[in-house]
Amino acid sequence: MLDLPQLDILLITPPFIQMNCPYPATTMLKSFLETKGFSAKQCDISLLTLLELFSKKGLITALKNIQTKKQSKNAVAFLKNKESYIQNIDAVISFLQGLNPDFEKAILANKLPKGERYHIQHHSLPDFENSSSQKAEFLASIFIEEIGDFLAENVDSRFGFSRYAEQIVLQNVSFKKIHKAILRDTVITDIMLKILDKELKEKNPKMIGFTIPFPGNFIMALKAAFFVKEKYPHIKIAIGGGFINTELRELKEKQLFEIVDFVCLDDGELPLLQILKQINGENVPLKRTFLLKNDEILFMDDFPSEDFKHSELPAQNYHGLPLDKYFTITETSNPMHNLWSQGKWIKMMLSHGCYWHQCAFCDTSLDYIKRYSMADAEQLCDRMEILMKETGWNGFHFVDEAASPAVLRKLAECILERKLKIRWWTNIRFEKTFTLELCKLLAKSGCIAVAGGIEVASDRLLQKMKKGVSIAQVTQTCSHFQQSGIMIHAYLMYGFPTQTTQETIDALEVVRQLFNHQLLQSAFWHRFTMTVHSPIGINPEKFGVRKIDLPPHHFLQNAVEHVDKKGCKHELYSFGLRKSIYNFIHQNGTDFPLQTWFDFSIPKTKMNSNLIQKILTDKNNA
Ligand code: SF4
Repeated sequence: MLDLPQLDILLITPPFIQMNCPYPATTMLKSFLETKGFSAKQCDISLLTLLELFSKKGLITALKNIQTKKQSKNAVAFLKNKESYIQNIDAVISFLQGLNPDFEKAILANKLPKGERYHIQHHSLPDFENSSSQKAEFLASIFIEEIGDFLAENVDSRFGFSRYAEQIVLQNVSFKKIHKAILRDTVITDIMLKILDKELKEKNPKMIGFTIPFPGNFIMALKAAFFVKEKYPHIKIAIGGGFINTELRELKEKQLFEIVDFVCLDDGELPLLQILKQINGENVPLKRTFLLKNDEILFMDDFPSEDFKHSELPAQNYHGLPLDKYFTITETSNPMHNLWSQGKWIKMMLSHGCYWHQCAFCDTSLDYIKRYSMADAEQLCDRMEILMKETGWNGFHFVDEAASPAVLRKLAECILERKLKIRWWTNIRFEKTFTLELCKLLAKSGCIAVAGGIEVASDRLLQKMKKGVSIAQVTQTCSHFQQSGIMIHAYLMYGFPTQTTQETIDALEVVRQLFNHQLLQSAFWHRFTMTVHSPIGINPEKFGVRKIDLPPHHFLQNAVEHVDKKGCKHELYSFGLRKSIYNFIHQNGTDFPLQTWFDFSIPKTKMNSNLIQKILTDKNNA
């Protein structure tokens, strides 16, 4: 290793994040740091660990490490078929990677074993009648998920396909408990560390940057960092990413610095650039970086330059990622719902921040929302053309917080002018600027789907949360997308401050009618969480609730509990709301009475049963 030329930085995506395409953080940072003269490589350890675990060799090893003394009925059934799972796993993964299309015949001829998941989900098979390849992908996905279920139940309870040990982190524990979780070795952490070790030997970096966008890859990132500190103490380690930006802004835990050297906030470009300059001997100030000095945590933010505008950043760089190895999972027969796990998408941002940045529940005081900066359409199309050439892919997921209608219009015109043959989808707000004409233009340029917040689906609460839309407006906008053949996913919310039982039931009625008119293809109910960086968290009294302060030295600092004396017992409705949506996205039950979804008595909705129909036919709303 010492004979190898030293790499300035290795950028790592730790386990586990999605497996159908790369998470974009390392591609952006690599590209930027290279333009500044530093050597940077990237490694998706999340994908590599999954591929090793879901291989014949990995499964045999995992099955030798069963932790449960007494297995459940399903686990016993799985073990009876274990040879079949072992013999088929490599072929199934390469089929889902698109590298083994011939295996489709074997799958359709019932070659794969059938476990509990198959028996729960096989009722969806008739929905795939028109596409044998999708049916085979669905069956192959069930096969993979059954193995995942077995591993989580019997080998490592912290495992999930796109998360690891998330519950431990979300329980808002002390760092002591997180540290204990880091020390635990399992067959899955062993696989991850072997891959990491190989990468370090091959790449010989001076520094590692871990991106930590979600709670579900925090423990693995720290586990990896812990290993590096023990075995390669000369390598400096920085962590950053969405989870760090929101949770560790008031960092007080010194023990974290036994594992990492730097904790960077907000966009990683400038913080990493300054650290790399220091490591290379330059005497330069740092940017938005915590470190430990003389046993004291310091927040260094002396570098005066502003962050780069979105237009000043280079196109991402995918070099070094095993693009043919990403695999897709088909979870349902609902094409909108599948978009997150199916298909290979280049994830790219049209702009930085949110052009609206007003919603009361959102982190509007933080840079990733409040600093809006965009690139022009020509520049975006240039980047897209570079990325298409580099990856060989033509699907784009624009991962903006909310893409502005004005930016999308210009982008669509530019895509059409350049005759780019692409498919794309993005997040939006359901605002009235999305006219039918604009939606048709977007569809023509390749837009296949949009996702946006309908949140509490109540005019009183939408106003209170400053969403800037009403039910009537959402309905018309959805109708414009629907008429243009664009699929729609809604982010829904319940448990908003002062939300009553009646408002929750009325919201469900609105959502039911939207599904019934096929104005929504997919949706998900999120329980409201108060975050300290949102207008509600900053000024809870204004929203009729009281914040419960976190105990001192609490490790994570973003989500806080609150007391809502006017609101209902929101947790009562979780199961019924989830059950209704599961059925609606499978085109089931949109004409059932709302009481169907609850096993206790709920009030009658006060919404007109023709509410959405009336909005659609009322010309004033057009
Ligand atoms: S919730 Fe969405 S639309 Fe609202 S401020 Fe946040 S990012 Fe913008």
